[in-house]
Amino acid sequence: MTQTVVPTEATPFRFFPVEVSRVTRLSPNFLRVTFTGADLDRFANNGWDQRIKLIPPLPGSGHDHLPTGADWYTQWRGLPDEHRNPIRTYTVREARPHLREVDVDMVLHGVNGPASRWAVEARPGSTACILGPNADFTGGSGGIDFHPPAGTHRILLGGDETAVPAIASILAGLPADARGEALLEVPESADKLEIAAPPGFRVTWLARDGAAHGTYLIPEIEAAAARLLGDCITPADVTLEDVDVDEEILWEVPDAAAGSIDGFYAWLAGEAAVIKTLRRHLVSSCGVDRRAVAFMGYWRLGRAEC
Ligand SMILES: Cc1cc2nc3c(=O)[nH]c(=O)nc-3n(C[C@H](O)[C@H](O)[C@H](O)COP(=O)(O)OP(=O)(O)OC[C@H]3O[C@@H](n4cnc5c(N)ncnc54)[C@H](O)[C@@H]3O)c2cc1C
Repeated sequence: MTQTVVPTEATPFRFFPVEVSRVTRLSPNFLRVTFTGADLDRFANNGWDQRIKLIPPLPGSGHDHLPTGADWYTQWRGLPDEHRNPIRTYTVREARPHLREVDVDMVLHGVNGPASRWAVEARPGSTACILGPNADFTGGSGGIDFHPPAGTHRILLGGDETAVPAIASILAGLPADARGEALLEVPESADKLEIAAPPGFRVTWLARDGAAHGTYLIPEIEAAAARLLGDCITPADVTLEDVDVDEEILWEVPDAAAGSIDGFYAWLAGEAAVIKTLRRHLVSSCGVDRRAVAFMGYWRLGRAEC
């Protein structure tokens, strides 16, 4: 008897069971985790700042209780705490679907969160689950926020260590004639990584060396914006609605369809209070058009991602 195979509809994102094939200590505070998995040949290699969800195992039950169907999120939220796997957001540093491999660069910020604790303990063979872009989905998978409009010819990229993987991936994907500046604030000078960038890009590493987050990033972003915008920069009387970063996610991403604003586009990500300060300075004090900047709070000091 012929069996009828009912095709399942491909979703933009899907779950990939993975295990660690190798860990590489890139610097004091960065660990590259290379994942492998039988299905990773179906991982969509979209580049840019492609985000994924990393789901560490629960002690004892691993991923036994993780719902993976169409309504997984509702089911996951309804699980008792002891059965609900933590879910954390990361960036694809590099995907090699032909080798069934994905690299994720994880910041080692201590053992105060489930993902950072998992990273400290990760060894070849450690298991995890990735919710990532599905190559079998025919539309765009989503999860990318770097959208410079047509006509952009000056790009400003800035962020802290959590944004380094995304900025490195964006720089790797830009055309050779792209021009602009990238500013990366990292915990210490030894965290400066070798990253490729177009020759017209100035890449500046800023080591905090114990200073507060944003100490160097905030003034350097303002100075870079002034260099890139030149005369276009004038204080503007803009009233910004407040974002309480303790209660809300700071995520303001312009639509590429809005068109280029004087050819300038900026992408900024990092600790939410730092990004909020940058948003206020750039938009209110410097008169940068907010439709030209993606402001993204990647994490919040003193608060877990939930
Ligand atoms: C789109 C997106 C992409 C991201 N990409 C990456 C990436 O590629 N690599 C990466 O390392 N991170 C990345 N992050 C940030 C990452 O999701 C957070 O750092 C996350 O909180 C880590 O989870 P956790 O379980 O370790 O800590 P949580 O349980 O979320 O938090 C526990 C405690 O740790 C603190 N904490 C969290 N992150 C940091 C940090 N970096 N430094 C100091 N303290 C911290 C929190 O304030 C809290 O007090 C990304 C975030 C977003 C939104």
